Amino acid sequence: MDLASVLTNQSAMVAGHTALRNGLHSDGWTEKGAIIRAPALLSQVTRAQAEQVRQVLTGLTLVVGASYCGAVVASFVAQHLGLPVAFVNGDGGSMQFHRMHRPTSGQGVLIADDLICTGQDVKAIAAFLRAAGHTVLGVSAWLSRVRLPSENVLTLAPAPFESFNADTCPLCARGVPFAYTDIRE
Ligand SMILES: [Zn+2]
Repeated sequence: MDLASVLTNQSAMVAGHTALRNGLHSDGWTEKGAIIRAPALLSQVTRAQAEQVRQVLTGLTLVVGASYCGAVVASFVAQHLGLPVAFVNGDGGSMQFHRMHRPTSGQGVLIADDLICTGQDVKAIAAFLRAAGHTVLGVSAWLSRVRLPSENVLTLAPAPFESFNADTCPLCARGVPFAYTDIRE
């Protein structure tokens, strides 16, 4: 499974000057919905995540994802790994496990997600899990725009687009108009 080919075939690699909703600019964005809305395709991609995880990580007992898309991805990854899944809601100090599964502490956790943009969400989830007495063994995602040296991050392909701070964006400096605005990857 070649993620870049899958995304290209689904027209999910969208090139062009982009204003992301988090304030960053980019030379393009990835339409993850092209995969999330097609369960057969999502199953292929999450199977590749599971195979990669299985080669690298041992001691996993639980997969965790954040509502909404992260929870869907985590559920598929967990199925391919033969592990239970739990979901987290909220952010920062208000984060909590969804009531359908509040795991006992001491789990060996894989955080599963689709696209990592700034990494703030992953950091918040990892901090929540550690505060709840779990060990975060790794993070599996399709793509990441950032490096997260504090976590063991596994991705399926290199990030296809660059992120820029708005005030140093080279596309803005050249006067390139926005092709896409208010994009949340
Ligand atoms: Zn710009």
